[in-house]
Amino acid sequence: TSGTMNAVKMVVLGASGVGKSALTVRYLTRRFIGEYHPTLENTYRSKTTIDDEEFSMEILDTAGLENNIFRDGHTSWGEAFMFVYSITDRSSFEQVKQIWTDLKSQKSPQIVAALLVGNKNDLKHYRQVPTNDGDKLAEFMGCQFYEVSALDGQQIPLVAELFRNLVRELRNKKLET
Ligand code: GDP
Ligand code: MG
Repeated sequence: TSGTMNAVKMVVLGASGVGKSALTVRYLTRRFIGEYHPTLENTYRSKTTIDDEEFSMEILDTAGLENNIFRDGHTSWGEAFMFVYSITDRSSFEQVKQIWTDLKSQKSPQIVAALLVGNKNDLKHYRQVPTNDGDKLAEFMGCQFYEVSALDGQQIPLVAELFRNLVRELRNKKLET
C-alpha cells in the first residue's frame, strides 16, 4: 500500500576494521570517508522506496561488538542484519560465522532478515577469503551474498543495492508471516 510508512531497524555487524562505517556512510552520503573512530557507534535515519512503497530505515552502525553482540540489546532491537567481513581478513570471516550462530540462538530465523557482505574487494592482491567461501556461508545462512568495495566509486550503486535488498528481504519475510 503506497503512502504507508514502514519502519526498518537495520544493524550492521562485523569485526572492527572491515568497513561497516565506510559502507554505511557510502550508502547514506555517496561519499567515502577514509577514517572513522573504530569505537564510534551511530544510528542513522534514511528513507528508501521499494516497489512504490516507502521505507523509513534506522541503520545502526555498530562498533566493538566482537566479544558480545548482545551487549546494549542491539540484536533484540534489530530486525534486519547486515553481516560484514573483509575479503582481506580471514578472522573477520570466522567472526561473521560466530555472530550468526549467536544471533540465531537469540532470534527466530523466521523473523530475521540477513545479508552477507565481503567488503574491500578492491584489494584483490590481499585476498584471504575466496569468493566461494562467501557463497557457501551465505547458502548456510540462507541469505544473499555480495562482494563489494566501499572505497571503489564505481560500486556506489552496488552498495546502495545491499541496503535496499536487505530492506526488501525484511519486507518479504514480514509478508510471509
Ligand atoms: P569498521 O570498523 O568496520 O567500521 O571499519 P571502517 O569503516 O572504519 O574502515 C576501516 C578501515 O578500512 C578504514 O581505514 C577504511 O578507510 C578502510 N576501508 C573501508 N572499506 C574499504 C574498502 O572497501 N576498501 C579499502 N581498500 N579500504 C576500506
Ligand atoms: Mg565503524
